[in-house]
Amino acid sequence: MLRDPLVVKQSFPIQWSSRLWAWTPDGIFTVKSAFQQLRIAAPPCPFARFYWAKFVPNKLSVFFWRAINRAVPVDVRIQNCAISLASGCVCCTHMQIESFDHLFMHGGIAAPLWDYFATPFGIHRQDFSAFWDFIWAWFNVAPAGSQMGSLGILIPMVIMWETWRERNCRIHNEAPSGFRTRRYRIWKWIHDINPMIKVNKSSPACLQQVVGPTL
Ligand SMILES: [Zn+2]
Repeated sequence: MLRDPLVVKQSFPIQWSSRLWAWTPDGIFTVKSAFQQLRIAAPPCPFARFYWAKFVPNKLSVFFWRAINRAVPVDVRIQNCAISLASGCVCCTHMQIESFDHLFMHGGIAAPLWDYFATPFGIHRQDFSAFWDFIWAWFNVAPAGSQMGSLGILIPMVIMWETWRERNCRIHNEAPSGFRTRRYRIWKWIHDINPMIKVNKSSPACLQQVVGPTL
């Protein structure tokens, strides 16, 4: 809760008293000072420094921000808004309820991608019961600024984006893409976004597997 930003400062003679903005030294309101106070008051998101990294394209950052703020409209999220909806996922042979965790972690679109790309990082999806713990492991898998560190941020964000994209294609009755096509899209993102990631014969084998073939 913010304290009242308007205070009465008295000066002499007393009739000159006026209401002043408490968050600037001169008592004059500025949007910047209000914004800074709000920033301090808001609880910091520990993921923010990763998903707002400069090398990450804005649309991936914004989608991740929507996901972490529960603003991606999977069926269960819509049901949570008191909207009557029969849920059936489009990612599995046998339909299941489309919750966020199902679609993005366990479902037939995302799970094979996670299992392919996570293994070289030593991350195993089955070790995590909570999706955001899984993402946290990805984001911290290697030092920030290293090739593996950058990929540890980029890859999960791309997998989430491509999972949502594929899900929406299927909802609109487009032909489903197979695993190889989805994997190729992830590789293409990595190549297109991150030309700084050059792989050669001296690169670690795990990095060569992650980055994939020359496209
Ligand atoms: Zn499913």
